[in-house]
Amino acid sequence: MTARLSNLSPTRIEKLETFLIERWCLLRIHCEDGTVGTGEAGVHGWPRPTAAMIDEMTSYLVGRDPSTIEHHAQALQRHSHFMGALVGGAISAIDIALWDIKAKRYGVPIYELMGGRTRDRVRCYMHAKGDTLDELVADAVAKKRQGFTAIRFSPFAPDYHLRKSFEEWVSEAERRVGAVHEALQGDADICIELHRQMNPAESIALAQRLRKFHPYFYEDPMLPDSPAMMGDVQARSGLPVATGERFSSIFEFQELLANNGCAYVRPDVCLCMGLTGSKKVAAMAEAHHVKVIPHNPLSPISTAACVQLDACIPNFALQEYTGESDPPKRDMVVQPLVLKDGYLEVPDAPGLGIELNDTALARLRLREVVTEPPIGRDGSVQDW
Ligand SMILES: [Mg+2]
Repeated sequence: MTARLSNLSPTRIEKLETFLIERWCLLRIHCEDGTVGTGEAGVHGWPRPTAAMIDEMTSYLVGRDPSTIEHHAQALQRHSHFMGALVGGAISAIDIALWDIKAKRYGVPIYELMGGRTRDRVRCYMHAKGDTLDELVADAVAKKRQGFTAIRFSPFAPDYHLRKSFEEWVSEAERRVGAVHEALQGDADICIELHRQMNPAESIALAQRLRKFHPYFYEDPMLPDSPAMMGDVQARSGLPVATGERFSSIFEFQELLANNGCAYVRPDVCLCMGLTGSKKVAAMAEAHHVKVIPHNPLSPISTAACVQLDACIPNFALQEYTGESDPPKRDMVVQPLVLKDGYLEVPDAPGLGIELNDTALARLRLREVVTEPPIGRDGSVQDW
């Protein structure tokens, strides 16, 4: 497959390089003409197998035209019937890097090739955390003072799974949400993240006690495996559900939207077939009057890719942002994105708009994490 790019000389993919940093799997694709594209895979639970999956796809990509992005995604996805997060994450990293290459070769930001700007800046929500209620409130107020107009937090204390009764659990959650709501004084929206730690009956019951605080969204009120049940939770909770961060295909989002499962879709551009797949998800959501809140717990490459998507879709709502002013994120990129008053500026630079710092890449390492889920009072594994 050869693209017809009248004003560009042809080039070929020369090599792929993966980098494992913290819990992130980053990718660089080098072309014969010297153009380099950067991407990231969003399977942060399994970074080494994700890098191995990209390595498996290298033999297909080397020597091919980097500009036929959709064609390559189709070839990598459909040559085998096996799908899932590792495949979706690897294809996403490749997709983002190929978009970076294509846009750099044209000398424009990626969003210019995806419909052009729909906005000049991107409203972000920031995480607040705290083991105790006082720590949570203090962190939420600190994030508001940094300029953020939307704050996301868990209503549950880290040791929630040790509460002796459901009543104790939801009463504590109600106190935590109420305290943050009061402290923010209406200056910032509250965004509630349940992290799949309740079943449908439990999250519907909790929602009835949280509605009075008018949360902007109610995220992952159950495990995301049943679109029909998620639709039931949204209808009966009376709160706007946000979900989709674990989906690695557009087909899962289609089922979710067909079941009225959410008010906000949460595609991860590093997991759901890259910018190409996430733009398709945004279009499906638009047709359902659903807005987009891209998932972004990863590196500055993920953030930059999200901003390119946010900049060109009409139904963008909020961007997840976890702060990039401290190491190692601060050191990873040359010329970071500009954050001002809780908004990220849409960059004018070609491609993704940021570049990895080679010095930092050589120094940073994978952070080893021992998987230890929370264990309940009865000794059983709990969700997180
Ligand atoms: Mg989440």
